[in-house]
Amino acid sequence: MTAVSMAQVVAAAQDAGAGLGAFNVIGIEHAEAIVAGAEAAGSPVVLAVSENCAAYHGGLAAIGAACACLARSAAVPVALHLDHATGEDLVSAAAGLGFGSVMFDASALPYQRNVAATAAVARWGHERGLWVEAELGEIGGKDGVHSPAARTDPAAAAAYVAATGVDALAVAVGSSHAMLTRDAVLDLGLIGRLRRAVAAPLVLHGSSGVPDQALTAAVGAGMTKINVATQLNKVFTAAVRAALAADAALVDPRRYCSAGRDAIAAEVARLLKVIGAAR
Ligand SMILES: [Zn+2]
Repeated sequence: MTAVSMAQVVAAAQDAGAGLGAFNVIGIEHAEAIVAGAEAAGSPVVLAVSENCAAYHGGLAAIGAACACLARSAAVPVALHLDHATGEDLVSAAAGLGFGSVMFDASALPYQRNVAATAAVARWGHERGLWVEAELGEIGGKDGVHSPAARTDPAAAAAYVAATGVDALAVAVGSSHAMLTRDAVLDLGLIGRLRRAVAAPLVLHGSSGVPDQALTAAVGAGMTKINVATQLNKVFTAAVRAALAADAALVDPRRYCSAGRDAIAAEVARLLKVIGAAR
């Protein structure tokens, strides 16, 4: 199986009335585990590499190449996605590495500058076959400046998609980035109104803080791409911590990192069932 386009996996999810799981990579263990979890669930999946992840690795090239390699050899369709890019240079680098999808995050800019910058990236990306996602409404938590009380207005969302030409829209409906508890309350009525107002697929960021039943309900109400990052880091770190605590003489990273990797794979497979993506 080769890496597939975001358009393909989004269309397949929409046809099936299912969610599409997009999981954030930190290191290669995360990427291996996300693919393994998707294979166990028999589900397409998105490997998401954020600007912060690229910065952690000193650039996108090495971690991006690892993800592309894993996507090519996966037994399920895998799309490569650049998450929360704020600079055009990184978008360009992702396209060069074979990423078929980017999320350009100009949500910190005033509205007119957000529209102008995002429209330019969308035009540039479409000329190169890229799928371009953008954000309107400042989903809470990122950089600690936004509030989970933020909401995207349906009419504003429709106008933004029309003005920018983006392929998918991240909306603020009650979730918040980097939540360690899973008790966010989603506005399901708003998701339904956004779904009716906006033709482009809707993306839920901050899904780690959303309980299982609400994730299932969000897909039912019209969400398509479900982004998960923090939840995988929680299960990875808990498993590593337990492995280290169980054996004070343990020094081989393969022993404790594999525990973390197995934990992520199981959680990915579980979450893909929750959002209706598992076959
Ligand atoms: Zn996000």
